[in-house]
Amino acid sequence: MEKHACIYCGNTETSESDIIPDALTNARITNKNVCKTEHNNKFSDLFESEVIEALALITNELDIKSHKGENYAAYPAKIEIDGIEYSTKMISEKDLFNGRKVLVSTDKKHKLSSMDKITKIAKDSRKVSEVDINKIPLYKRVEININIYFSEKMFRMISKIAYEWYCSRNGVVGYHDEFENIVKFITLGKGDNPVTIFQNEELYKYCGQQISLGSHCLFALVDNTGKVNVIVSLFGIAMYRVVVSDAIPAFCKNNFMFMELRTDSSRKELTHVSYEEAENYFFELFNPSNFIEGANIAGTHIVIHKEISNIDVVLYPFVFNMMKCFLEIRDEIQEPNEKIVKILKCNIQEVLQASTLHKKSIQRFVKEYFSDGHEPIRLNPNASNKKTTLLFYILFVIGRDNIECIDDKSLQEIAKEALDMGVKSELIVTDELEKKLQNEMLSTEGYGDMLEKGAEVIKKWEE
Ligand SMILES: [Zn+2]
Repeated sequence: MEKHACIYCGNTETSESDIIPDALTNARITNKNVCKTEHNNKFSDLFESEVIEALALITNELDIKSHKGENYAAYPAKIEIDGIEYSTKMISEKDLFNGRKVLVSTDKKHKLSSMDKITKIAKDSRKVSEVDINKIPLYKRVEININIYFSEKMFRMISKIAYEWYCSRNGVVGYHDEFENIVKFITLGKGDNPVTIFQNEELYKYCGQQISLGSHCLFALVDNTGKVNVIVSLFGIAMYRVVVSDAIPAFCKNNFMFMELRTDSSRKELTHVSYEEAENYFFELFNPSNFIEGANIAGTHIVIHKEISNIDVVLYPFVFNMMKCFLEIRDEIQEPNEKIVKILKCNIQEVLQASTLHKKSIQRFVKEYFSDGHEPIRLNPNASNKKTTLLFYILFVIGRDNIECIDDKSLQEIAKEALDMGVKSELIVTDELEKKLQNEMLSTEGYGDMLEKGAEVIKKWEE
């Protein structure tokens, strides 16, 4: 029988812990060796929930939500409509005008809701005036909390992710003294803070080019002083180094590992004993003796790989390069400074601007905008929301071109064509392009019907 014991305290009554809090990823990874109350549930109150709350805008925009919850996370925002500013917590722009919600202006003097609802609230029709939200510009301002990335709660959460992941990939059962410092820090916030943040702009850029937008990445390696490091890249926004142990524990054999967790819930993973072993494995893949003769195509003999047909050959060089950087670059900090704040802001901006486009995001969008009995869609030429515009445009193309069914590949192709992009897989909508897409739709007769048709196709898209 498999033995279980908590990696924080040794308690043998264990439960399954989400290594990365469930609200922060669509790709769950778990550690079964964590006791239920003391070192699973309690962490949520101690540090996780505050971090999750502070990152609500990011998870919402990336279409990430807890598998337990019905809704995406709501984030605080200030909305300006017709010269009046409203303070609210919102899940989506659609949700602002769902007919039930009442927006209260920041100065508390105005309320905004559906005509029905607001007339009831006002009790005096002379106090009510009408605005057409489809015709007037709407400005949204969202405050971004940079300090959360340097908070003790964040450092403890990042330590927890690093520790639980390293242990799960090494089959660690029970508490071991080799992890004394990190365990103390996670559970009590005491001991040396094992976490630092990278502040090297090029490193962020290089990593960002190789992974999917909004992915979490984890790397495990042994640094030049023999310490076990886990690097946690959170949404590609902030990259943290965590010292998990001062030396390799004798019972942990895997010390060269990589994992990417994508927002579409897919993942990539490499597990090796050491840098050398990983390198040898990679180079051995190209050894001619690993290839055998395959089919004969029109007289031409082809060779195929004996064992592995779908190995991600591009992934290995990327991981090797990242590991090299983690060994050489020791330019990290724990306190905010101008340089790192600029990097974080820039990375957040990129995540918020680039729409991730996959089944989940377009289905969520259709559910929000094309619910049963909804009002006819009228695009607001004054509004600016690049993600919304792109998603409307995709529905428009599906409807216009009478596309009857859709899959991930055709979705990507429509987007690629709309955005006129080459191999780069991230979808960046510029101001100019947004205008162009809006104008194309607005100048097409019957665009509303095309949108409806497109939405129907997405609704019928099943697993
Ligand atoms: Zn425990």
